[in-house]
Amino acid sequence: MLTTHNLTKRYGGRTAVDGLTMELPRGVVAGFIGPNGAGKTTTMAMLLGLVRPTAGEGTVLGRSLSHPERYVSRVGALLEGPALWPSLTGHENLQVLARLGGHDPRRVPEVLRLVGLADRGGDRFGTYSLGMKQRLGIAAALLGEPELLILDEPTNGLDPAGMSDMRDLISRLAAEDRSVLVSSHLLGELEQVCDWLLIIEQGRLAYAGPAGEFATRSGAELVLFPAE
Ligand code: ATP
Repeated sequence: MLTTHNLTKRYGGRTAVDGLTMELPRGVVAGFIGPNGAGKTTTMAMLLGLVRPTAGEGTVLGRSLSHPERYVSRVGALLEGPALWPSLTGHENLQVLARLGGHDPRRVPEVLRLVGLADRGGDRFGTYSLGMKQRLGIAAALLGEPELLILDEPTNGLDPAGMSDMRDLISRLAAEDRSVLVSSHLLGELEQVCDWLLIIEQGRLAYAGPAGEFATRSGAELVLFPAE
Protein backbone atom coordinates (compact mmCIF):
# COMPACT_ATOMS: atom_id res chain seq x y z
CA MET A 1 0.00 0.00 0.00
CA LEU A 2 2.81 2.38 0.85
CA THR A 3 6.53 2.36 1.46
CA THR A 4 8.98 5.01 2.56
CA HIS A 5 12.74 4.93 2.61
CA ASN A 6 14.63 7.41 4.77
CA LEU A 7 11.80 9.95 4.37
CA THR A 8 12.92 13.22 5.93
CA LYS A 9 11.54 16.73 6.29
CA ARG A 10 13.50 19.60 7.77
CA TYR A 11 12.18 23.11 8.34
CA GLY A 12 15.27 25.29 8.73
CA GLY A 13 17.18 23.77 11.63
CA ARG A 14 14.18 21.75 12.87
CA THR A 15 13.80 18.15 11.74
CA ALA A 16 10.07 17.30 11.64
CA VAL A 17 10.46 13.82 10.13
CA ASP A 18 13.77 12.08 10.56
CA GLY A 19 14.54 9.23 8.16
CA LEU A 20 11.30 7.21 8.23
CA THR A 21 11.64 3.81 6.60
CA MET A 22 8.49 1.73 6.64
CA GLU A 23 6.33 -0.60 4.63
CA LEU A 24 2.58 -0.89 5.05
CA PRO A 25 0.70 -3.89 3.71
CA ARG A 26 -2.48 -3.46 1.69
CA GLY A 27 -5.88 -3.81 3.34
CA VAL A 28 -4.88 -2.90 6.91
CA VAL A 29 -6.03 -0.19 9.28
CA ALA A 30 -2.73 1.33 10.32
CA GLY A 31 -2.60 3.53 13.40
CA PHE A 32 0.00 6.29 13.14
CA ILE A 33 0.56 7.11 16.78
CA GLY A 34 2.75 9.73 18.42
CA PRO A 35 2.65 12.73 20.73
CA ASN A 36 1.97 16.27 19.49
CA GLY A 37 4.75 17.49 17.25
CA ALA A 38 6.07 13.98 16.53
CA GLY A 39 5.78 14.46 12.75
CA LYS A 40 2.51 12.68 11.91
CA THR A 41 0.90 15.53 9.96
CA THR A 42 4.12 16.29 8.10
CA THR A 43 4.48 12.63 7.09
CA MET A 44 0.87 12.48 5.89
CA ALA A 45 1.33 15.72 3.97
CA MET A 46 4.39 14.24 2.24
CA LEU A 47 2.43 11.08 1.36
CA LEU A 48 -0.28 13.27 -0.18
CA GLY A 49 2.20 15.35 -2.16
CA LEU A 50 1.35 18.52 -0.20
CA VAL A 51 4.82 18.87 1.32
CA ARG A 52 8.00 18.02 -0.56
CA PRO A 53 10.44 15.76 1.35
CA THR A 54 13.89 17.18 2.12
CA ALA A 55 15.34 13.71 1.56
CA GLY A 56 14.27 10.14 1.07
CA GLU A 57 11.70 8.54 -1.15
CA GLY A 58 8.65 6.32 -1.10
CA THR A 59 5.69 4.91 -2.95
CA VAL A 60 1.93 5.16 -2.48
CA LEU A 61 -0.20 2.50 -4.19
CA GLY A 62 2.89 1.51 -6.16
CA ARG A 63 3.62 5.04 -7.48
CA SER A 64 6.57 7.21 -6.55
CA LEU A 65 6.12 10.04 -4.05
CA SER A 66 7.92 12.30 -6.52
CA HIS A 67 4.86 12.08 -8.80
CA PRO A 68 1.83 12.53 -6.52
CA GLU A 69 -0.32 13.45 -9.53
CA ARG A 70 -0.10 9.78 -10.55
CA TYR A 71 -1.79 8.44 -7.42
CA VAL A 72 -3.65 11.18 -5.47
CA SER A 73 -6.94 10.52 -7.25
CA ARG A 74 -6.90 7.05 -5.63
CA VAL A 75 -6.32 8.46 -2.14
CA GLY A 76 -8.88 10.17 0.12
CA ALA A 77 -7.75 12.43 2.96
CA LEU A 78 -9.09 14.11 6.07
CA LEU A 79 -6.63 16.65 7.37
CA GLU A 80 -7.18 18.37 10.70
CA GLY A 81 -10.58 20.13 10.94
CA PRO A 82 -12.53 19.80 7.69
CA ALA A 83 -13.24 23.34 6.41
CA LEU A 84 -16.73 23.05 4.95
CA TRP A 85 -19.48 25.63 4.45
CA PRO A 86 -21.42 26.10 7.72
CA SER A 87 -24.57 27.51 6.10
CA LEU A 88 -24.93 24.64 3.60
CA THR A 89 -26.41 21.31 4.60
CA GLY A 90 -24.22 18.21 4.79
CA HIS A 91 -25.75 17.02 1.53
CA GLU A 92 -25.15 20.37 -0.20
CA ASN A 93 -21.54 20.52 1.02
CA LEU A 94 -20.87 17.12 -0.53
CA GLN A 95 -22.63 18.08 -3.76
CA VAL A 96 -20.33 21.09 -4.12
CA LEU A 97 -17.23 19.09 -3.26
CA ALA A 98 -18.20 16.31 -5.68
CA ARG A 99 -18.53 18.84 -8.50
CA LEU A 100 -15.27 20.60 -7.58
CA GLY A 101 -13.43 17.29 -7.38
CA GLY A 102 -14.85 15.88 -10.61
CA HIS A 103 -16.71 13.09 -8.78
CA ASP A 104 -20.21 11.81 -9.47
CA PRO A 105 -22.64 13.84 -7.25
CA ARG A 106 -25.00 10.85 -7.34
CA ARG A 107 -22.61 9.21 -4.86
CA VAL A 108 -23.55 11.73 -2.15
CA PRO A 109 -26.40 9.71 -0.53
CA GLU A 110 -24.17 6.62 -0.53
CA VAL A 111 -21.24 8.31 1.26
CA LEU A 112 -23.62 9.96 3.75
CA ARG A 113 -24.97 6.51 4.55
CA LEU A 114 -21.43 5.09 4.86
CA VAL A 115 -20.48 7.62 7.54
CA GLY A 116 -23.78 7.25 9.41
CA LEU A 117 -25.17 10.67 8.48
CA ALA A 118 -27.98 9.60 6.12
CA ASP A 119 -30.66 11.07 8.40
CA ARG A 120 -28.72 14.32 9.05
CA GLY A 121 -27.73 15.18 5.47
CA GLY A 122 -30.46 17.83 5.32
CA ASP A 123 -29.16 19.70 8.38
CA ARG A 124 -26.74 22.61 8.10
CA PHE A 125 -23.07 21.78 8.63
CA GLY A 126 -22.81 24.61 11.19
CA THR A 127 -25.22 22.74 13.48
CA TYR A 128 -23.20 19.49 13.46
CA SER A 129 -21.26 18.24 16.48
CA LEU A 130 -17.48 17.94 16.07
CA GLY A 131 -17.79 14.19 15.53
CA MET A 132 -20.39 14.70 12.80
CA LYS A 133 -18.18 17.32 11.14
CA GLN A 134 -15.27 14.88 11.12
CA ARG A 135 -17.51 12.17 9.66
CA LEU A 136 -18.75 14.54 6.94
CA GLY A 137 -15.08 15.30 6.18
CA ILE A 138 -14.54 11.56 5.76
CA ALA A 139 -17.64 11.36 3.54
CA ALA A 140 -16.03 14.02 1.34
CA ALA A 141 -12.83 11.96 1.21
CA LEU A 142 -14.87 8.94 0.08
CA LEU A 143 -16.49 10.68 -2.91
CA GLY A 144 -13.71 9.56 -5.26
CA GLU A 145 -13.93 5.89 -4.12
CA PRO A 146 -10.34 5.90 -2.80
CA GLU A 147 -8.31 2.72 -2.27
CA LEU A 148 -6.41 4.38 0.56
CA LEU A 149 -7.74 6.78 3.20
CA ILE A 150 -5.41 9.05 5.15
CA LEU A 151 -7.09 10.46 8.27
CA ASP A 152 -5.22 12.98 10.41
CA GLU A 153 -6.40 12.84 14.04
CA PRO A 154 -10.11 12.24 13.33
CA THR A 155 -10.72 11.49 17.03
CA ASN A 156 -9.13 14.73 18.26
CA GLY A 157 -11.45 16.58 20.65
CA LEU A 158 -14.28 14.04 20.41
CA ASP A 159 -16.35 13.05 23.42
CA PRO A 160 -16.61 9.31 24.25
CA ALA A 161 -19.74 8.85 22.08
CA GLY A 162 -18.12 10.62 19.10
CA MET A 163 -14.97 8.55 19.63
CA SER A 164 -16.93 5.33 19.59
CA ASP A 165 -18.83 6.37 16.39
CA MET A 166 -15.50 7.18 14.76
CA ARG A 167 -14.01 3.79 15.70
CA ASP A 168 -17.09 2.03 14.27
CA LEU A 169 -16.78 4.05 11.09
CA ILE A 170 -13.08 3.23 10.66
CA SER A 171 -13.83 -0.49 11.11
CA ARG A 172 -16.66 -0.30 8.54
CA LEU A 173 -14.43 1.49 6.03
CA ALA A 174 -11.73 -1.13 6.37
CA ALA A 175 -14.25 -3.96 5.99
CA GLU A 176 -15.04 -2.56 2.54
CA ASP A 177 -11.52 -3.43 1.39
CA ARG A 178 -9.93 -0.04 1.78
CA SER A 179 -6.60 0.60 3.43
CA VAL A 180 -6.66 3.24 6.16
CA LEU A 181 -3.80 5.21 7.70
CA VAL A 182 -5.14 7.06 10.74
CA SER A 183 -3.19 9.20 13.18
CA SER A 184 -3.74 9.90 16.85
CA HIS A 185 -1.64 11.15 19.73
CA LEU A 186 -3.15 8.47 21.97
CA LEU A 187 -2.65 4.77 21.35
CA GLY A 188 -5.66 3.83 23.48
CA GLU A 189 -8.10 5.70 21.22
CA LEU A 190 -7.45 3.55 18.19
CA GLU A 191 -5.81 0.32 19.23
CA GLN A 192 -9.08 -1.65 19.06
CA VAL A 193 -9.53 -0.86 15.36
CA CYS A 194 -5.92 -1.01 14.16
CA ASP A 195 -4.28 -4.14 12.86
CA TRP A 196 -0.99 -2.38 12.15
CA LEU A 197 0.85 0.23 14.23
CA LEU A 198 3.42 2.86 13.40
CA ILE A 199 4.67 4.60 16.51
CA ILE A 200 6.53 7.86 15.89
CA GLU A 201 8.49 9.95 18.37
CA GLN A 202 10.42 13.11 17.49
CA GLY A 203 10.23 12.30 13.80
CA ARG A 204 11.61 8.77 14.22
CA LEU A 205 9.84 5.45 14.00
CA ALA A 206 9.80 3.74 17.39
CA TYR A 207 7.75 0.71 16.29
CA ALA A 208 6.27 -0.58 13.03
CA GLY A 209 4.42 -3.85 12.76
CA PRO A 210 1.29 -5.81 13.60
CA ALA A 211 -0.72 -4.29 16.45
CA GLY A 212 -0.98 -7.65 18.21
CA GLU A 213 2.79 -8.06 18.35
CA PHE A 214 3.23 -4.58 19.78
CA ALA A 215 0.79 -5.35 22.58
CA THR A 216 2.53 -8.57 23.54
CA ARG A 217 6.12 -7.43 23.02
CA SER A 218 5.97 -4.09 24.73
CA GLY A 219 3.11 -4.07 27.19
CA ALA A 220 4.91 -1.60 29.44
CA GLU A 221 5.20 0.90 26.61
CA LEU A 222 1.45 1.03 26.05
CA VAL A 223 1.37 4.05 28.31
CA LEU A 224 4.01 5.83 26.22
CA PHE A 225 1.67 8.71 25.49
CA PRO A 226 -0.51 9.43 28.51
CA ALA A 227 -3.44 11.83 28.11
CA GLU A 228 -2.36 15.44 28.16
P1 ATP B 1 0.24 17.36 16.10
O1 ATP B 1 -0.44 16.19 16.71
O2 ATP B 1 0.50 18.47 17.08
O3 ATP B 1 -0.36 17.82 14.81
P2 ATP B 1 2.27 16.01 14.56
O4 ATP B 1 2.78 14.69 15.06
O5 ATP B 1 1.28 15.97 13.47
O6 ATP B 1 1.72 16.84 15.78
P3 ATP B 1 3.75 17.80 12.89
O7 ATP B 1 2.61 18.75 12.78
O8 ATP B 1 4.08 16.99 11.70
O9 ATP B 1 3.54 16.82 14.12
O10 ATP B 1 5.03 18.64 13.35
C1 ATP B 1 6.31 18.07 13.53
C2 ATP B 1 7.30 19.16 13.86
O11 ATP B 1 7.53 19.96 12.71
C3 ATP B 1 6.84 20.10 14.97
O12 ATP B 1 7.96 20.43 15.74
C4 ATP B 1 6.32 21.29 14.20
O13 ATP B 1 6.46 22.46 14.97
C5 ATP B 1 7.24 21.33 12.98
N1 ATP B 1 6.59 21.89 11.80
C6 ATP B 1 5.50 21.36 11.16
N2 ATP B 1 5.17 22.11 10.09
C7 ATP B 1 6.05 23.16 10.06
C8 ATP B 1 6.24 24.29 9.19
N3 ATP B 1 5.46 24.49 8.13
N4 ATP B 1 7.26 25.12 9.47
C9 ATP B 1 8.08 24.91 10.52
N5 ATP B 1 7.97 23.86 11.37
C10 ATP B 1 6.97 22.99 11.16
